Amino acid sequence: MAAVTIDGKALALDLQAALQIRVQALIQAGTRPALTVILVGADAASQVYVRNKVQGCERTGIVSAMLHYPSDVDPTIVFDRIAELNADPAIDGILVQLPLPAQFDESAILAAISPDKDVDGFHAANVGALTQGAPRFIPCTPYGVMKMLEKEKVELKGKEAVIIGRSNIVGKPMAALLLAKGATVTICHSQTRDLAFHTRRADVLVAAVGRPLMITGEMIKPGAIVIDVGINRLASGRLCGDVDFDSAKETAALITPVPGGVGPMTITMLLTNTVEAAERRSASVQAGAPH
Ligand code: NAP
Repeated sequence: MAAVTIDGKALALDLQAALQIRVQALIQAGTRPALTVILVGADAASQVYVRNKVQGCERTGIVSAMLHYPSDVDPTIVFDRIAELNADPAIDGILVQLPLPAQFDESAILAAISPDKDVDGFHAANVGALTQGAPRFIPCTPYGVMKMLEKEKVELKGKEAVIIGRSNIVGKPMAALLLAKGATVTICHSQTRDLAFHTRRADVLVAAVGRPLMITGEMIKPGAIVIDVGINRLASGRLCGDVDFDSAKETAALITPVPGGVGPMTITMLLTNTVEAAERRSASVQAGAPH
């Protein structure tokens, strides 16, 4: 029987509608959620991602600003700007679009963002909080995947979860979140021997590699839940995931498409993190705390 497709776009729209209401409540209480996105250079994909993030803010009522620097900018200028944004009480979220040009030390940039405004959840303090089971900001893509699993009422306790990819952005935080829900988690990567051995025993399979159509139906356990994080462009110009959707849907029970799966959820969770930060700011203002 063919798998049921999880519609990430529809879920994202529902969640964004709920966020609009939270934003209105914040504005009425005197706090306007605000996100600043920093983009360095002219990478075409990064420009599209940043534009989508800014448009998402506009849709939900979050104030957004995009600071665009040339690719040869002196990193000191960006560090100084981040310090100003950290100190600005009207800013809830700061996001630096990755990747950065070679003159930047990416981890130093991520470390420069205040953990309280790190809406991407990449600061070491936030990674640590997530690992310890007390997250402040959850990285947006794995957060979106968890929301999809929640919406589909997937019980994770005791399930075999296999993640392909061990990046800081997707694979590792995904593992922490699935582990926290009681799944038995395996992370595969480029040195994994016999990838199919692992994928075939996965009740929940998350592919986050960046290799078009590498996971085929025969690598999937019958009845599995398949989450395709990959975004790849084929020579034809068509977008596809890491999973061969057509063959995988014949074996899986639930599957996410590309496009229209995880992608729209990622932006929605960025907006969610920004609203959560604004709600914390509003609560501390109500409590009379200095900010
Ligand atoms: P990344 O940093 O390049 O990580 C890719 C991972 O895949 C690495 O851990 C790598 O292993 C592993 N890998 C590479 N070849 C492999 C192979 N043959 N078998 C098993 N593992 C292999 O990528 P990322 O940032 O995590 O992103 C992954 C994909 O998700 C990309 O297509 C990206 O565009 C997409 N993405 C989508 C969203 C969204 O919103 N939908 C968000 C973020 C990323 P090593 O560590 O050993 O090199």
